[in-house]
Parts: sequence; structure tokens; C-alpha cells
Amino acid sequence: MGGTFVVYSDKPQLVLELIGFCTGAGRKAVALAFDAAVAEECAAKGADKVLFFNSGINLPEAYCQQVAEAITGEGAEGFIVGSTVRGREMAAKVAALLNWPLASDVSRVVAGGGELEIERLTYGGAVVQQEKVRLPAVVTVPPGKFEPSSKPKAGAEVVALSAEPDGRYTLLERTRIERQGADLANADKIVCAGMGFAKKEDLKLAFDLAAVLGAEVACTRSVAEERKWLPPDVYVGISGATVKPRLYLTLGVSGQVQHIVGARDSGLIVAVDVNENAPIFSAADYGIVGDLYEVVPTLIDALKNA
Ligand SMILES: Cc1cc2nc3c(=O)[nH]c(=O)nc-3n(C[C@H](O)[C@H](O)[C@H](O)COP(=O)(O)OP(=O)(O)OC[C@H]3O[C@@H](n4cnc5c(N)ncnc54)[C@H](O)[C@@H]3O)c2cc1C
Repeated sequence: MGGTFVVYSDKPQLVLELIGFCTGAGRKAVALAFDAAVAEECAAKGADKVLFFNSGINLPEAYCQQVAEAITGEGAEGFIVGSTVRGREMAAKVAALLNWPLASDVSRVVAGGGELEIERLTYGGAVVQQEKVRLPAVVTVPPGKFEPSSKPKAGAEVVALSAEPDGRYTLLERTRIERQGADLANADKIVCAGMGFAKKEDLKLAFDLAAVLGAEVACTRSVAEERKWLPPDVYVGISGATVKPRLYLTLGVSGQVQHIVGARDSGLIVAVDVNENAPIFSAADYGIVGDLYEVVPTLIDALKNA
């Protein structure tokens, strides 16, 4: 086996994906955890070792100094971090403390000897840029890029570390905010509504189709941000959610690159649009050129009678 990567995310599922990446790359995976249950889950699902920061207050960004020291202590050649708001903050600080290069939001990463080959989207998602980063390095990876690890490894130890947090941070209060929209990250099927819908009430068609399919409803940024017909946490794209369902069915979505980059890893993309030249048809596996107001009721009937 090659060297060691330390992995961290504040999203438990994403940590397992990062462990999966290490295993696939032939690297030892040392997972960082700030929660006992996450530490146990990592140990039970493929990490070679888990460093559990028994912080009590679960404010990972207050432990960057200790994280940097742990990475050095493990002799790691990479720190792979889930690309979330908190993960990006941790990655940037640790990269600065270690004086390692940082590659953020990579869409693909392949570990070679002494370096990482990475791909990143640039120019608003219109261009894929290939780069090499010499190890040791810090990399942030969004969800859904690697298969989550699930196989336990014999002898994975959980090492509890007690460390003093950076006194400049104080957690005052946590208030749960109820999710407004669907859980797109874990959706198996998604129906995505675009500006092809003439009015908000018509979105019922998308919800009816989703109900028959057992799908969640997403939308384009224009539907969420301009029209404000659906909450902002359900729009897909470069500045919205990245999704990877088995089925991504679009209704009246033109398929601009800023939208489609968020869904291009879907298993099957099916598009309904009146304009046969809409760019969505280049991204779709199957396309229906037609008026969604006619196509959707027909689809619902067909699915109900199937
Ligand atoms: C920096 C930047 C970041 C962005 N980030 C995102 C992002 O993250 N996500 C995102 O979604 N967008 C993003 N956008 C906006 C993006 O460029 C598009 O403007 C947006 O995705 C278009 O949304 P739409 O497809 O719903 O609307 P439109 O482009 O207006 O397309 C509507 C489609 O509906 C079709 N249509 C009309 N009537 C019917 C009908 N009756 N039946 C069937 N089809 C019909 C039309 O032919 C058309 O193809 C970003 C833009 C910029 C500049």
C-alpha cells in the first residue's frame, strides 16, 4: 500500500466517500472525527485508523492547529477534505499552517506516485481544467464523487485525542433550521422544473409526476432565485446543489452549462422541452420534444397504468 491520506468531512456520508477514494487509490485512510458515533462508523467502514477529537463542543474549525499536527504526526502525504462550508474553512487553514498547496472543489482526483491528477470546472462550468498537484497537498472534494467505503478493515483503531481548542472561537448557540426543500443529495430520482412552467401553480404537474416516480423535485436557479417558486436549497447547478440520482428528469429546462454541471453524474438524464435545439438534449440520454403541459399528464397516465 502507498502512503497515508488523512480525510475529514463534517458530513458522515462524505467521510465514507473520502475513505473510499483512499482505498481505491491504494492509500491508508486516517479519518478525523469530532463525534464518537462518526468515529465508530469510520472504523467500522473502512478507515485504517480514526483520530477522534474528543472536543465536546464539536467545533472542528477551532482545532486546525491540532489537525495540522496530527497530519504531520501520521506522516500523511495528503489531507482530503469534504467540500462543505466548514470543510473548506478547515482545508484552507490547515493548508496555511502546513504550507501545503490547496486544490479546492475538484471534480475528479486520481492519486499517482508523488502527485495528484485533478480536474476542476472553470469559466462557470463551461471548461474542465486538468491539473497536477505535487504531494503533500490539501484537496477538497464535493459529495458524490467516490463510492462510499463500507468494508470494515481488521484492526482499525480509534485513537481519542483531547486537545484545547483555539480560544478565539466560542460556540454560542446552535439552532436547528428545518430543511425547506427535498433531500437532493440522497435522492434516487429527481424531477427538475425549469422556466418552461408558466406559473407557480403549474409546478403541481412536476410534483404529481415525482409522486408517481417516487422522485424528489428540484429546479433551476431561475425558478428558485428569480421566480422564488421553490426554496433555494433545491436548485441544481454550479452555484446550487450537485446531485447524482439514478434518474434526472427535466421539464422545461434549457440545460445551460451552469445548470447541467450539477447533474451530469446522474445515471440517466431524460429531458422534456419544446425547443428541439435546447442544449439540454445534448446532455440527455433520452429527450422528448414537446409541450410539458401535454407530455407530463401523458407520462403520469402511462406510469400509473404500467
Ligand atoms: C455565474 C452563473 C451561475 C449560475 N448558476 C446556476 C446554477 O447553479 N443552476 C442553474 O440552474 N442555473 C444557474 N445559472 C443560470 C443559468 O445560466 C440559466 O440561466 C438557468 O439555468 C436557466 O434556467 P431554465 O432552464 O429554467 O430557464 P430557460 O433557460 O429560460 O429555459 C426554459 C426552457 O423551457 C422551455 N419551455 C418553455 N415552455 C415550455 C413548455 N411549455 N414545455 C416544455 N418546455 C418549455 C424552453 O424551450 C427553454 O428551453 C447561473 C448563471 C450564471 C451566470
